[in-house]
Amino acid sequence: MLQINEFTKRYGEKTAVDHLTLHITPGEIYGFIGHNGAGKTTTLKACTGLLSFDEGEILVDGVSVTADPLECKKKIAYIPDNPDLYEFLTGIKYLNFVADIYGVTAEDRRARIEKYAGLFSLTEDLGQPVSSYSHGMKQKLAVIGALIHAPKLILMDEPFVGLDPIAAHNLKQVMREHCDAGGAIFFSTHVLEVAEKLCDKVAIIRRGQLVAHGTMEDVLGTASLEQVFLELSQNGAEAVADAEM
Ligand code: ATP
Repeated sequence: MLQINEFTKRYGEKTAVDHLTLHITPGEIYGFIGHNGAGKTTTLKACTGLLSFDEGEILVDGVSVTADPLECKKKIAYIPDNPDLYEFLTGIKYLNFVADIYGVTAEDRRARIEKYAGLFSLTEDLGQPVSSYSHGMKQKLAVIGALIHAPKLILMDEPFVGLDPIAAHNLKQVMREHCDAGGAIFFSTHVLEVAEKLCDKVAIIRRGQLVAHGTMEDVLGTASLEQVFLELSQNGAEAVADAEM
């Protein structure tokens, strides 16, 4: 569903992501873990076609994001780390706007809005302008907007930030449902307990380089994700200290 091959992104002299290769197949919830500045957002944005890159290729369902970005965008939904929605629209106008862009039929959009707005307890607020929403409400609206065209691949950047425990629980269920129905999800998070329980596979990135990836069982063995992550981060810090001496 998502093939990232030798993806490299530089900002001027700085290499933010260095020859990253990851493959995400249908049915998988794939977690992307790394310290602040590791390169997660850069990778996710490149997968959406929002960010150009220097080397490598990214394919969504076999289609190149650089050669055919529009075809890729039809298959993708992206939830950025900060839900920057049109503040002057009401919630329902925003959802209809997104549904119009993706050509979702009236029947499908009605059913999906009813289902997901109900699930996330947002139905009664849909008539209010987005400018009046709390951060968590905006996040919920962004999630509903992402689901409205039934995308094959959902890319999420720290989707649980700002969600209350019930909404976070519901989002995890929606993510599982989506993948059980043949979709795929690639998402970043700093909440390691959630990643450990929810993900089928996990990738750990440090300073733009992939340091571990695979099924939870393969990556963790008998340790917790927190232990593995701390150990890999510590090794990295020691390596940097050695290099600087
Ligand atoms: P966080 O967990 O803090 O969100 P991240 O893993 O998502 O971090 P990125 O935002 O991908 O990290 O950043 C990777 C690296 O690229 C960082 O060193 C960052 O400073 C750098 N970077 C990101 N965007 C730009 C930019 N527009 N210009 C220059 N450098 C950038």
